Amino acid sequence: MKIEANYVDILNREIFPARVCVENGKITSIERVEKSCETYILPGFIDAHIHIESSMLPPSEFARLAVCHGTVATVSDPHEIANVLGVPGVQYMLENVKKTPFKFYFGASPCVPATPFETSGAVLGPDEVETLLKMPEIKYLSEVMNFPGVIHDDPDMLAKIARAKTLHKPVDGHSPGLRGEDLEKYIEAGISTDHEAFTYEEGKEKIEKGMKIQIREGSAAKNFEALWPLIDAYPEMLMFCSDDRHPQ
Ligand SMILES: [Zn+2]
Repeated sequence: MKIEANYVDILNREIFPARVCVENGKITSIERVEKSCETYILPGFIDAHIHIESSMLPPSEFARLAVCHGTVATVSDPHEIANVLGVPGVQYMLENVKKTPFKFYFGASPCVPATPFETSGAVLGPDEVETLLKMPEIKYLSEVMNFPGVIHDDPDMLAKIARAKTLHKPVDGHSPGLRGEDLEKYIEAGISTDHEAFTYEEGKEKIEKGMKIQIREGSAAKNFEALWPLIDAYPEMLMFCSDDRHPQ
């Protein structure tokens, strides 16, 4: 099969019209062509932070639909299903993904329930979080939503972060509007990412203090317009994510 389109060469930072030949599912050659093309070919998209459950679909069905839009992998926090079913809910997700070649990278959710005022179906304490973190399929501690808990030294919250560090698994953040000294304390706790920045200044401060920013454009929250001007200055510190996509 031959496809002609503008080839987006990420490594060499160049876009040029090309003919891409595919044999038995593998690219065998990429040649420049002298013509103008309207469409583009680029590597598959990794959604850097999305809750699969918000799509109301199991991972295997999510994969079937997302791949049509160019998404080939996700970094996913299963805290919605954990809120209802606890560890067995997460195990269901891990089992279901085996049905598809789509790549799902799940984390252990440290904020189940999201707040102590919530009536949830399950609670994940430090021991449950550690059980999940010890599984090879669980790649990281997922979004630490309880940022006030981190700032005010909540023992339960700090214990979960400590266990992730002991197991050498990275810690994903969630800190809407957090700035200044409170932000510094949150980062010093070992949290390396954030997908909640909603102004250019907030995103810039977080990056300059060492965080990687996931620019979010989902069904509800839309931050691309505010944050895209960061792309030229800090390309290596940015990712794209949707956080939540409703099925429609
Ligand atoms: Zn999220």
